[in-house]
Amino acid sequence: MTYDYDLFVIGAGSGGVRAARMSASYGAKVAICEDKYMGGTCVNVGCVPKKLYVYAAEYSKQVKNAKGFGWSTQPPSFDWATLRDNKKDEIKRLNGIYESILGSANVTLIEGRGKIIDDHTVEVNGKSYSCERILIAVGGWPFVPDLPGREHVVSSNEIFDLATFPNDIVVVGGGYIAVEFAGIFNGLGANVHQLYRGDLFLRGFDQEVREFAAQEIAKQGVDLQFNTDVTAIQKQSDGRLAVTLNNGNTLITDAVLYATGRKPHLNNLFADGITLNLAKSGHIAVNDKFQTSIPSILAVGDVTGGMELTPVALEEGMTLAKHYYNQQPCEIDYNNIATAVFCQPNIGTVGMTEEQAREKYPNVQKYRSEFRALKHTLSGSDERTLMKLLVDGDSDKILGAHMVGPDAGEIMQGLAIAIKAGATKAVFDATVGIHPTAAEEFVTMR
Ligand code: NDP
Repeated sequence: MTYDYDLFVIGAGSGGVRAARMSASYGAKVAICEDKYMGGTCVNVGCVPKKLYVYAAEYSKQVKNAKGFGWSTQPPSFDWATLRDNKKDEIKRLNGIYESILGSANVTLIEGRGKIIDDHTVEVNGKSYSCERILIAVGGWPFVPDLPGREHVVSSNEIFDLATFPNDIVVVGGGYIAVEFAGIFNGLGANVHQLYRGDLFLRGFDQEVREFAAQEIAKQGVDLQFNTDVTAIQKQSDGRLAVTLNNGNTLITDAVLYATGRKPHLNNLFADGITLNLAKSGHIAVNDKFQTSIPSILAVGDVTGGMELTPVALEEGMTLAKHYYNQQPCEIDYNNIATAVFCQPNIGTVGMTEEQAREKYPNVQKYRSEFRALKHTLSGSDERTLMKLLVDGDSDKILGAHMVGPDAGEIMQGLAIAIKAGATKAVFDATVGIHPTAAEEFVTMR
């Protein structure tokens, strides 16, 4: 049987593009289709523009902190349109790079939404393509619960491109996206109310990290309201939004951002008669070779659930290509994947939380340090930093490292290598620090 393509990838996001170009580099004949965002969520409405906006937001703090170092500045003013439009230009540039990467890897790019017709056929814009394997890499899509006034809210897909800057904004949710955007708008000068339905946001993170982050984020000026949810939203005659809360209060605001999770983006992906096994969460279930319940149909990235992180999707795309087109084992170690939340200050984390460690190991030793960074002795800021190491007392192995503080994401990437390599506390202790840094605290905690 000959096919038009060896591999047909649906979705040109992080996982899809990596799988497509690596497979092609091993000699496979590959096509990829994309209907919306070249580069997917990460490049267009996720990690990349988010980080640019985080940089923008942090300037306000730097201006404030500069005074104690002798700088005098005019009260700064911020222009949303400049940031938004510069971001647009940069993303356009990246879209072009993605296109040219695929082109130079000899991957055929087809514009349009792919529909799986049968085990070996994908249809795009009414044209059918036969393929030995199909890869679903369509990612996720923001989920907004049903509520009266839902039409007035925006999600992370729209928030970057608002026509005007919201001087007051309500952010609903307590995950990565909600926490990061609350920080962004706070830093850019808006009044921010972050509402979370539970007792404490960032469920799944280390408890002490969550508590410390809440304390520091509140200090930065975000109005954190836990055990609070929205019951209705109404547009007022002046265009502002009246947000009714479950505690009886009402907030009058300019914009409401819902960051209440993401769902797999499966709309219109399957022709009648094609049914794949789904996990309870609605994600596509795959085996350890990325195969769905139809073996010629594979899936990687956010659409499969798990850790919905760009580097994880990249690793999956790469592993898939190596396995199917370069005869290598299909192995990914999902342990000790570091992650960061780019709030102010950052959260960086790798390995187990204290709660997970204590559940699994009988003899957990905790090393904890909390301090005011050197910079803030002159800046006057009362921001504090938390660092935490969890060690298995029996083997001396590091089980987890956590930080809330400036550059936690940068610092945690280095620690993740050591922890992945099986570093013990003795190795940390024997490592000579770089002075004066915050990071040296990780090798001096006793
Ligand atoms: P998350 O799943 O992390 O968080 C969703 C939040 O919304 C939770 O606090 C959840 O509450 C709350 N929620 C869910 N449903 C409702 C509802 N019906 N009403 C009110 N609140 C609700 O999703 P995000 O959208 O923040 O992020 C999606 C994924 O993207 C993340 O899991 C992460 O993997 C990835 N991401 C990574 C980033 C990074 O690496 N820096 C940045 C941004 C995203 P509860 O906890 O009670 O369930």
